[in-house]
Amino acid sequence: MSSNKTMSFKKAHGKPLQTKALNEFSLTPQAKKIWDAIPAGFQMKLLNNVWCRTCSDVTSIGSVSGKVERGMLILKGICTRCGNTVARVIENE
Ligand SMILES: [Zn+2]
Repeated sequence: MSSNKTMSFKKAHGKPLQTKALNEFSLTPQAKKIWDAIPAGFQMKLLNNVWCRTCSDVTSIGSVSGKVERGMLILKGICTRCGNTVARVIENE
């Protein structure tokens, strides 16, 4: 009985919930600075307006990681519809 309990606990602990992963948002300090300067309403628009090549449609980006390259903020993550990798480039003036 007690061994069964341990097994189910291990199983539940091994894989994080998908919804939790989709909410992940990790930016480099440089990227965070640019991102924080963007109004919240526009941030949501950026995250919910990402072109996915696999879906051939505009979708939302999840599990986002961001960095700065050549003055541009680059957000990378996964399409919340199909799970494939998508990226969003935000040009910084
Ligand atoms: Zn997709």
